[in-house]
Amino acid sequence: MPYPFVASPNVTHTEGRAIDVVVMHTMEAAERLDTAEVVARWFARPDAEVSAHYCVDADSIVQCVREQDIAWHARGGNDHSIGIELAGYAGQGPKGWDDDYSWAVLERASALVADLCRRHDVPVRRLRADDLRARRRGLAGHADVSAAFGRSTHWDPGPDFPWRRFLRLIRMRLALASDVVERSAQP
Ligand SMILES: [Zn+2]
Repeated sequence: MPYPFVASPNVTHTEGRAIDVVVMHTMEAAERLDTAEVVARWFARPDAEVSAHYCVDADSIVQCVREQDIAWHARGGNDHSIGIELAGYAGQGPKGWDDDYSWAVLERASALVADLCRRHDVPVRRLRADDLRARRRGLAGHADVSAAFGRSTHWDPGPDFPWRRFLRLIRMRLALASDVVERSAQP
């Protein structure tokens, strides 16, 4: 799935690596239709000294780092992860995550994460700090990486991030995709 690419210089290049974890973040920037583009331009600045692979807002996805390269998004957990920034705030409550804008972000992000999980064979399950330390594979929040390795105080995507709903959306996408493949394989 090709996305518009705004290259960030804040990366560690590799010739290829194993992806074990998809790390979810919130951008902590106003929920607008150009939020992904605005944050991607910030990541494109060398003085930002941070980056993520993908930025997702309600109507678009911008890629900033190639998946084989290491983005600088979650200290202690970058080497084998893909970082995804969502438009929204870690401080959002359940209502904030339930408005039209956030639904659009989560729908869009779930399609992206389903594709990542399928291509990198990452299990669709929520990981906590203990799981990350044990190098289990799956999805985690930046907060979990911070708790696991103690190298950051970032707590996004926040305690009210709707993990259950998000994982359900991802599983629905994967079920839909495999259904299409099965049907098209039939004579
Ligand atoms: Zn973060």
